[in-house]
Amino acid sequence: MDLFEYQGKQYFARYNIPVASGDVADDVEAAVAAAEAIGYPVVVKAQVQVGGRGKAGGIKLAQNEAEVRHHAGNILGMDIRGHTVHRLWVEAASAIAEEYYASFTLDRSAKNHLGMLSAQGGVEIEQVAEENPQAIARIHIDPVDGLTETVCREWVAAANLNPQATEGTVDILRQLYTCYIEGDASLVEINPLVLTQAGQVIALDAKVSLDESAARRHPEWDDFSGAETLDERESKAKALGLQYVGLEGSIGIIANGAGLAMSTLDVVAEVGGSPANFLDIGGGANADVVANALSVINSDPQVKAIFINIFGGITRCDEVAKGIVEAMQRVDLKSPLVVRLDGTNSDQGREILQANETDRLIMAGTMVEAARKAVSLAGGNG
Ligand code: GDP
Ligand code: MN
Repeated sequence: MDLFEYQGKQYFARYNIPVASGDVADDVEAAVAAAEAIGYPVVVKAQVQVGGRGKAGGIKLAQNEAEVRHHAGNILGMDIRGHTVHRLWVEAASAIAEEYYASFTLDRSAKNHLGMLSAQGGVEIEQVAEENPQAIARIHIDPVDGLTETVCREWVAAANLNPQATEGTVDILRQLYTCYIEGDASLVEINPLVLTQAGQVIALDAKVSLDESAARRHPEWDDFSGAETLDERESKAKALGLQYVGLEGSIGIIANGAGLAMSTLDVVAEVGGSPANFLDIGGGANADVVANALSVINSDPQVKAIFINIFGGITRCDEVAKGIVEAMQRVDLKSPLVVRLDGTNSDQGREILQANETDRLIMAGTMVEAARKAVSLAGGNG
């Protein structure tokens, strides 16, 4: 679960990481009320889960009520890289002297936690990593050892920050590490971490991803529900209890079992197509599940062909076939269907489909053949 900036800052505050005081606002009047309570100048910030808000005009300084009205009015409803702004965070403006970058995340290949700190903050870290990789001080942290003060000091020294920022940064990094570990986050990022003109170090932005496997340990996460900005297809699939991940391509995919679904994506890519989704209907899927899966895929305007790949084990191919026929009666399918059935009751399944075969419902003998047909029906290169 990814948090909005304001939620990330609220989470940071639980772990004593200094952030500017502020409040959320869903309309212009609330933004004005927040600004009056905080005191001018304030910064009005768009709450969307995408970076580059500053460049897109989603972050503005306001010196008085008129400016808050003006900026809040402009930013609410604004589209920032495909995300509509529904909420603002209004916070006390900071007088910035320098902007840094700090984060913790899991480095799976190193089997350790990774900390990154850079004197070049404010810009996208990917850009720094590419153009000036030595400007990022990295450390690996063994979870058993944790981040000791000695190690933290060495790390901060290696990043060549303004010496004035040293103490504040050491404190924040140790608190941020605690937030990352005890807060069960998979990522905590502060960009920019700023040194203010008054010599304080504070988190000016917050990016926090929580590890949902730990949700039972964190009743306080309930406050964040609704933070997830699923796309429309994903919300629909979630409501139907389907294991669905939206992708960018044009071939809708339904398979049973995560392994087979992954292999199906690979095979479609291998024959030159591009998958519109990952969808695992699971073991023992019945007609209803198949019909639901088809209705989700059918609602995706990018889909040009659908590939159903079933290897029957617990899942019975005749049940899947019934689901396909039912779905074709229930929903007006916009794309042709290519079906490959193998395994338990596949003969019965194929008979059911053959009885309903049309130029919109195509049977294929193997997975590769099915993938090729689907890709060609989608118009070639997916
Ligand atoms: P992002 O662009 O989505 O990453 O949003 P950030 O919260 O990181 O803000 C982008 C930039 O806006 C920062 O790097 C700052 O330069 C500027 N900014 C944000 N808050 C303040 C503030 O309180 N005072 C000043 N002067 N600038 C700010
Ligand atoms: Mn930022």
